[in-house]
Amino acid sequence: MYYKEPYLSRMKSVVEDIIISGRSIEILLEDTLLYPGGGGQPHDTGRILGKKWSADITLHRVSNDKVWHIGTLFGSVIPEPGEIVEVVLNWKRRYDFMQQHTAQHLLSATFFRLYGLETEGFQIFDDHSKIELRTESLSKEMLETVEIVTNEVAKKGLEVTTYITSRGDVQEELRKVPKEGLKFLRIVSIGNYDSVPCGGIHVRNTKEVLPIKILRAYKKTSSIWRVEFVAGYRAFRVLNDILEDYWESLGALNRSTPPLIDAIRAFEDEITKRISEERIWKYKLVETIVKFARASAVKIGREIVAVLEDIPWELRDSLVKEASAHGITMLVGVCKEGKFLVFSSRGLAKEILQLVSKLYKIKGGGSRNLVQGVFLENVPSSRDLLNVVMKVLR
Ligand SMILES: [Zn+2]
Repeated sequence: MYYKEPYLSRMKSVVEDIIISGRSIEILLEDTLLYPGGGGQPHDTGRILGKKWSADITLHRVSNDKVWHIGTLFGSVIPEPGEIVEVVLNWKRRYDFMQQHTAQHLLSATFFRLYGLETEGFQIFDDHSKIELRTESLSKEMLETVEIVTNEVAKKGLEVTTYITSRGDVQEELRKVPKEGLKFLRIVSIGNYDSVPCGGIHVRNTKEVLPIKILRAYKKTSSIWRVEFVAGYRAFRVLNDILEDYWESLGALNRSTPPLIDAIRAFEDEITKRISEERIWKYKLVETIVKFARASAVKIGREIVAVLEDIPWELRDSLVKEASAHGITMLVGVCKEGKFLVFSSRGLAKEILQLVSKLYKIKGGGSRNLVQGVFLENVPSSRDLLNVVMKVLR
C-alpha cells in the first residue's frame, strides 16, 4: 500500500501472523503502509492499533517478500491472527524522507544533464542527505549552478510518476542502468526531466521539495565526491539552525553586525597581538632571572654554578637556553611544587641526580645535560643543593 498510496497515513489491515517474546513483537499484516526501507531511504516507523493492544513499530525485516513489523507491544491482550487492526504511519518522518528522496533524483538528474556526473550512492541522515558522485573534481561554481537549476526545475511543478514495467519494455531513456537480474523494474519519472529505476517513495509534485539547498561538498576518494543537501521543510529547519549558530557566534564575539568573518579576523588579530606581547614579557622575565643567576653564580674550577629557587616551571626550557647563552655551565633550579631541574653543559647532570637521590626521596630522570624530577618529601634549600653540586665537582 505504501507504493499505491504514498500519502495515506492510516489504514485498516488484518493480522496474518505474529511472533511474541515478552514485550517484543513481530507482526505480519495482510497489507501495510509502513515502508521497510531501501534504496537510500530509511524505513518508516508507526503504530499498529488492535482491540485492547497496540504496538510501536520501530523496525522491519523482509523475508520471502513479506514485511514483518518489529516493535514493542502494549496492552493486556495478545494479538490474534485474523484480527482487524489499524496501521498508523509516523507521517512527519515519512514525508520528510519523501521530500529528500525526490530532491535527490532532481539533483542527480541535474548533475548528470549539466556535467555528465553519475550518482553512485544516496543516503538520508537525520540532519542531511548525501549524494555520492563519480567525479575527480567538483567546483563551487558547478554546485551553485546545479542548486539554482534544480530549484528552477522543481518550481515548475513537474509531476512525479511511478510504474512497474518489464525490463525490455522501458519506454524512456533511463539515467541509470538497472541492476542485473531484475525482470521487472519500478521506474520513477519526474516530468520529462528524469527517469530512473527506484524502489523508494516519492512526493507527487516537485513543488513539494522546495527549497533544495546544497550544504557542502567534499572529496571522499580520488574519484568520488560527496554532496550534502537538504530539501523541503527540513531545509528551513537546518538553515534556521545554521543562522542561529551564526547570530550566536556574532554575539559571542562581542559584535552584532555581519559579516561574521570580519569579526573572526578582528578576534584573530587581537589574539596574535596578545601572544606576541606575552612572548615579550616572557622573554623579559627569563632575561631578568638569568641575569640574577649569573650575578649570584659561584665559580668552582671551570664551572659557573647557579642555584635558583622559585623558578617559573613553565619557562624552564627558555631559562636553560638563556642561562647557557650567558655562560652558566651548571644550573640547578627548584620550583614551588618541589619540581627541580639540573642542567650541565659538561654532561654531569645524571651524576648530580644520582647523588641527590641518595640524600632525598625523589623521582626523576633525563640526559647527561638535563635532568628533571620532583622531591617527594623534603625540598632542600639552595644552599643544600649547592653543597651536593660541590661534592660532585670535587
Ligand atoms: Zn530513488
